[in-house]
Amino acid sequence: MADAHSNLDALREDDVSSLLHPFTNAVAHGQIGPDVVVRGEGARIYDDAGREYIDAMSGLWAIGLGYSEERLINAATEQLKKLPYYHTFAHKSNPAAIKLGKALLSMLPVEMSKVIYTNSGSEAVDTAIKLAWYYWNAAGEPERVKIISRKRAYHGSNVASGSATGLTVMHGGFNLPFSQILHAECPHFWRYGEKGETEEEFSQRKADELEKLILEAGPTTIAAFIAEPVMGAGGVIVPPEGYFEKIQAVLDRYGILFISDEVICGFGRTGKMFGSETFGIRPDIMTFAKQLSSAYMPIGAVTVTEELYEKIASASNTRGVFGHGYTYSGHPVACAVALEALTIYQERDVVGHVAQSGAYFQQRLREFESHPLVGEVRGVGLIAAVELVADKRSKKLFDPFGKVNGRFAKLAYERGLITRALPASDSLGLCPPLFCTKSELDEIVDKFADTLEAVTEF
Ligand code: PMP
Repeated sequence: MADAHSNLDALREDDVSSLLHPFTNAVAHGQIGPDVVVRGEGARIYDDAGREYIDAMSGLWAIGLGYSEERLINAATEQLKKLPYYHTFAHKSNPAAIKLGKALLSMLPVEMSKVIYTNSGSEAVDTAIKLAWYYWNAAGEPERVKIISRKRAYHGSNVASGSATGLTVMHGGFNLPFSQILHAECPHFWRYGEKGETEEEFSQRKADELEKLILEAGPTTIAAFIAEPVMGAGGVIVPPEGYFEKIQAVLDRYGILFISDEVICGFGRTGKMFGSETFGIRPDIMTFAKQLSSAYMPIGAVTVTEELYEKIASASNTRGVFGHGYTYSGHPVACAVALEALTIYQERDVVGHVAQSGAYFQQRLREFESHPLVGEVRGVGLIAAVELVADKRSKKLFDPFGKVNGRFAKLAYERGLITRALPASDSLGLCPPLFCTKSELDEIVDKFADTLEAVTEF
């Protein structure tokens, strides 16, 4: 045992001495070291000391089918034995990539014509932005270069996707956002709605503000608008009544493309197969990752409509090859796993299941609405956030904000519950695996309640 322990200590020291961790305070990491996760099962993970945690965040909104889905493991193993890798450049293909493409297109709520693969959500968003640019060049409107995103959006951390992200922590020090990105206002009704304003009126105001932004920037300079159906990392902001309908009308007026970023909302999370369906979005481009493979393999995807595809394809008459893609685009192992994940979602009726368990989860979380620390409980399906405030009546933020939720997440972790302190407010994110049982959802809510009491006492 002594040996085992010293091995673990050595592992932690090696982590600190050799890794730069994403989204981690490097100085604090040197002091407190890593939480080393060694095993997962169902909705739970286990650390190197054998402690058990229920993962109410599905890792990073990703492991929809939980940590021990044998069918995904088998799909990967079989494919590894047959063809562990080949690329899809220059007319090459593989059966897994082809079948996954067909399966994905057949599930979408709007008619999409083609799929291109990436390795992550950030790459999917960068690819979507490049596709919008490429389309407008091919369509003879090369001046359409600006992309409108929204404050508090999360679209990834690459140069384009990080620019589209509307969180300042992702920009400072990185020379981002780049100049072609504009950020519209965040549609968080509870936080930004005016006194006496209805949700519909608030949505109209957001649409009017968007139109003003478009007119000021020059409508013929705008390539696309990008949005998550539910803003995830920015605080789980569910769109207010009528929001996307009104936004879509403005975009249609100026011929601006709609990129729906389904990286979190895709594959049942919101109680329909896609967030675009839940909120009536008619996208021209869609991006996917995370639950596409239930996170068992890194893979993302982008789909485009036939109209876009035709223009993009026609550009090859003048430009030759379509000059974009990755070494691992259409990676056979990632595609085989994703194909199996999509099959499981359909066989186990993820939509029916989340519609039911999501309603129960949301209703139980609303128990916290009366708690003195809780400003708002929000969410849809199996994605939610609880926002903590310094003053319930005035909705006053803690000063500085963003510390109390960190404290909460730490206390929850000590109680065996994983939630996530989200930036831009004192909100805690919840996004449990899609097939959590009722008793697992109860356990999450009960542990959350215990933590609320502990953080109140603190
Ligand atoms: N889009 C959205 C909506 C996301 O939530 C994320 C990741 N949280 C991304 C894109 C980026 O995905 P990745 O981390 O796989 O690059």
